[in-house]
Order: sequence, then structure tokens, then C-alpha cells
Amino acid sequence: MVKETGFYDILGCKPGCTNDELKKAYRRLALKYHPDKNPNEGEKFKQISMAYETLSDPEKRAIYDEGGEAAIKKGGSGGGGFHSPMDIFNMFFDGFGGGRKRERRGKDLLHQMNVTLEELYNGAVRKLALQKSVICDKCNGRGSKKTGPVEKCTTCRGTGVETHVQRIGPGFVQQFEQVCSGCHGQGEVIPEKDRCKQCHGKKTIRDRKIIEVHIEKGMQDGQKIVFSGEGDQEPDLEPGDLKIVLDCKEHPVFKRSGTDLIMRMPLQLVESLCGFQKVIKTLDQRDLVITSLPGEVIKHEDIKCILGEGMPTYKNPFEKGRLIVQFFVVFPESIPAELVPALEQCLPPRPQVAIPINAEECTLTDYNPEQESRRRQKQAYEEDDDGYGGFQGGPRVQQCSTS
Ligand SMILES: [Zn+2]
Ligand SMILES: [Zn+2]
Repeated sequence: MVKETGFYDILGCKPGCTNDELKKAYRRLALKYHPDKNPNEGEKFKQISMAYETLSDPEKRAIYDEGGEAAIKKGGSGGGGFHSPMDIFNMFFDGFGGGRKRERRGKDLLHQMNVTLEELYNGAVRKLALQKSVICDKCNGRGSKKTGPVEKCTTCRGTGVETHVQRIGPGFVQQFEQVCSGCHGQGEVIPEKDRCKQCHGKKTIRDRKIIEVHIEKGMQDGQKIVFSGEGDQEPDLEPGDLKIVLDCKEHPVFKRSGTDLIMRMPLQLVESLCGFQKVIKTLDQRDLVITSLPGEVIKHEDIKCILGEGMPTYKNPFEKGRLIVQFFVVFPESIPAELVPALEQCLPPRPQVAIPINAEECTLTDYNPEQESRRRQKQAYEEDDDGYGGFQGGPRVQQCSTS
């Protein structure tokens, strides 16, 4: 049992969730609360990052599950300390490729796109409207109305850096550099009167652009579609990339596992014993009929599959995975007593039971596993208590159990 669920709650996950579920939750939230999109949600972005960093590492997750946030912050097993939210973000979305030479490029734009499993199965073309920085077309990115050479900043003589000398004791000076306050590191100053009317001297403007996204058959949840050079533009820099991250909604019937599709199918007891026919609506709206073999019994939790009716393979869409069907048998609540002998005639004979003479007669009562686990949690909580509760006369304060 976990001590607290705060980190899980931040990600909208349940304790015991899989690593894939954590990844998906982080991906979704990090894109939503990234400072580029939500400048006022810095704190939230940080929390998401912290929660993900902890829970995605099996060791840290175990420490958290046992001791909560306090245990993680204490450093647990030597580790301790968190990466910056931006580092986590970049590692997540760029992988551990390393060696990136990004200095001479504008920023990449990341966008999330909600897709359905049907769209990943059938392929689709979607239009997406987005805002990005483009070089101002009125001044061609100069920021100035004038066409001659731009005036260098007098404070830094065009270097963009100011050098300060500070006396730190008799005979000692310390020299340090700072981004130029006159030009904010640009190295040039455009006088107010010369500034381009369209971009106000900023050299770029925000532009709305509509792009067409081709979702190919077999693409995955979380897959990135990259539009090279379609990111933000900045003067003198190569434009960054636009990356569309696919986020697949849950499907009411099918779950995907690689190229396989998995579904659960209810069977009435009569169907499981006496045979059945069922119709499955595929993701491209075809009807598949499945029929059990004569005399075949399908047991509760039996699994069968249909070859070639799973998801198409990415880049090879005629190659499809399996459709896996998990049966669960729905038993009748009761059977009219007078029908039992007839039914028994049809079933394999019951085993003989020898009852010892002194055997004791007992009654079976119902057992509800859900209720049991709730009771156990409550017990554990009470044992955790300081031990004085209830014995000091005053009313015993009990936390409401959250459910
Ligand atoms: Zn300057
Ligand atoms: Zn301009």
C-alpha cells in the first residue's frame, strides 16, 4: 500500500499504474503546461516534472510509495535532488540522443494532437492551426525602416556583452560579463523613430498558420510527426522544427498493444457451453462474424485471436497484427430449482463426496474483495496512529478516508 498519492494525483494516475501510463500522462500534461504555452503555470510544470521524474524511476518510485514525498526529498538512496523541469522535458521529447547542436537554430515548436484509434488504423489528414514567430516581411527581419547598416549599440560596441570591473579589495579587481543592458544582448539599437511599424523593431511577428498533418496507418500514440524548419523563425538563425505529438484517446472497445488489438467479450453461460455467434465491428466499420466450434466450451477468461485483424504496421499497412479476444462468462444469478436435475443430466457427473461422521455443518457467507481491501486500509491506518487515540477522553480525530 502506498503512503500518499500526491505525485500520482498530479499526473492523474493511480498508484500501481504502468510506466506507459505515466509516460502518457506526463507527455500530455508537460505539453499543456510548458511555459511556452502556459507562462503562468510554471509551478504546475515543475510539479508534473518532479512527479514524473520520481515515479518513472523504479527505485525512486519504491521509495516514494513507501515514504512519500518527504522520503524522496531526503534523498532516499543517495540520489536526491531533481533535474530542472526543462531538462526532463527535453530528455523526454528528444530522447537521449545527445550531441545536439541547437545553438544556431530557432526554437522547436511542440504541439499535441488528439487522435482516435480509428484515425491511427485508417490513416487521416487533419488540419491544425497554430501560432508561430516568423521573420517580419515588412523589414525583412531588420527591425528598422532604414536600409543602411544598423547602428551598433554604444554601450557594448555591438558585442551584446557588458564588461564590469569590480574592486573587491586593495589591489584586487574582479571582472565579470553581463548581457548588455543597452541592447539586451542584440548588439544593436534601433532608434525609436526608425523602428519597423509592423514588428516594432522586434524583427519577428506572430503569425497564424494552418498546416496539414498526415496521420499514417499504424502510427502510435506518442509518435512525433516532424515538420522540418516549420518551427519559430528568428533572424540569423535556422528555423526550428515543428513537432506534432500524437495523443490517442482511449477506445471504448479496443485496447492497443503494439500491432495487436485487444478486446473483452462477454458470453452468456449458455453461449459458453452451447456455442455462439458474435459480430465484431472493426475500426474501419466492417462486420466480422465469429462462430464457436460445435461442442466446444469457452471457459471464463479464455483468450482467442483473429489473425490479420489487428492494427496495421506503420509503413507496411497491409501487414496487420492480431485481434485478441478475451472472453468473460456471465453466469446466471440462480437457476430454478426444478430445472436443476435436467441440467445435471447434460453435464459431466459430479464427484462423489464422502462426509465423515463427525463433520461439522457450516454456513457460507458472502465475501466482497473490494470491501475487504477497504477494511484492511482502515486497519493499517489505525495501527499507524500514535496509540493514544481514544484513551484520553477527548473525541478521537479521524481522517476521512478518501475513496
Ligand atoms: Zn549593447
Ligand atoms: Zn518589421
